[in-house]
Amino acid sequence: MSEARAVVIPRPAPLPWWKRFFLVEMLQGMSVTMKHYLRGWREPFTVQYPEERLPLDPRFRGYPRLRMHPETGDELCNVCRQCEKICPTLCIAIEEEPHPSGKGRRPRQFTVDYERCCQCGLCAEACGSDPISAIYMSHDYELADYGRDRFRAQKDRLYLGFPAPPAGKGKAPGK
Ligand code: SF4
Ligand code: SF4
Repeated sequence: MSEARAVVIPRPAPLPWWKRFFLVEMLQGMSVTMKHYLRGWREPFTVQYPEERLPLDPRFRGYPRLRMHPETGDELCNVCRQCEKICPTLCIAIEEEPHPSGKGRRPRQFTVDYERCCQCGLCAEACGSDPISAIYMSHDYELADYGRDRFRAQKDRLYLGFPAPPAGKGKAPGK
């Protein structure tokens, strides 16, 4: 039978008496709070949304949209359906038709249900259109409305985007 071994754990040095009241830490914490409070009077941290808006980060992921080729103006989507397959919420539905040029296919209808979209960006990552992805994560995010139909974005909406809300300070470029 093996012998039990005692493990000695060193105890921390006792606190000086003034630290046992936590008064110093409390005053230090209060001074940080007060510093930010007074700074907030000089330069407010908040903005008056929706009149003012903070600029969005270029990598901000809004709702997915479709785009044409920037030079030829042709549809980039070749109906490979990678986006439809990878979408975790199954919110993409594509109907296809032959391309008028006789080569390949193009989407006759392309629908993204924005109510179910979680803005994960997987569709844009998986897009099989090369070298420019046909589907991309736009900066659209202000879609509040009363009708549910509006959230089923179809092809025209996906290309044109939603009407921009009233202009505000610091709006993201391209909106
Ligand atoms: S962002 Fe995500 S949830 Fe939204 S359509 Fe793309 S894959 Fe689907
Ligand atoms: S992954 Fe890209 S090219 Fe393929 S169907 Fe979706 S949008 Fe079109």
